[in-house]
Amino acid sequence: MADFTMLGTNGTIVLFVMVSLLGIVIGSFLNVCIYRIPKKEDIAVERSHCMHCGHVLQWYELIPLFSFLIQGGKCRSCKKKISWQYPIVEALNGLLWVAVVLVHGLKWESILFCLCASVLIVITVIDERTMEIPFGCNVFIAVLGVARVIIDYPHWYEYVIGFFTVSLFFLLIVWVTKGRGMGGGDVKLMAAAGLLLGWKAIILAMMIGCVLGSVIHICKMIFNKKKEHVLAFGPYLCAGIYLTILFGDPIISWYLSLFQI
Ligand SMILES: [Zn+2]
Repeated sequence: MADFTMLGTNGTIVLFVMVSLLGIVIGSFLNVCIYRIPKKEDIAVERSHCMHCGHVLQWYELIPLFSFLIQGGKCRSCKKKISWQYPIVEALNGLLWVAVVLVHGLKWESILFCLCASVLIVITVIDERTMEIPFGCNVFIAVLGVARVIIDYPHWYEYVIGFFTVSLFFLLIVWVTKGRGMGGGDVKLMAAAGLLLGWKAIILAMMIGCVLGSVIHICKMIFNKKKEHVLAFGPYLCAGIYLTILFGDPIISWYLSLFQI
């Protein structure tokens, strides 16, 4: 955990209230992205509206979490239920941001990691639904990666190697299995995230993702009884990347310490 003593108790409380509120507000924008990116709609121009009746939402119906709770999860106009996805994504984004700041403290990297966590949420929901990772999301993570290289310039090669480490391995799998084992979106995701995290961390993220994916997929096959051959791998890779952002440093230094005589 990062050290916040310089902020004092009140300062630390104010910091985390602000981080969680900002996270929730950005989370509500993520919902817009999740809905509009697969439909190729403009994410900025169009006003937000009800999915059922087209009722254009007023400012007081657009307050994240709060509006959903006040309206009892229903549209004010047609009374149809609003998906639980909206408050869950908002709250989750707030939580993921708080955890990043808790672990990494007030550093430039924290901003990059928070933004990355938000994109990972978008990728997770879209990939689970459509089996596709939007290209723009991977480009966004790659841009964060370029920013990391600039911030940590003395170690630029760690990130450049990271760009190729897992992505080339995945590309080989795509090539060998003729695209059945994995999609091109997964390859690009691991290239972009590798640029952001560096080669050691991206290998760890891949391992966590594979373990999570296998365990959860086997559980699904046992409990659902039906055979699910198609696995959206993206959500597990996203979980691996996020967990590595939080816990990667201590795990990697522990692993490397095993080889020091
Ligand atoms: Zn409605």
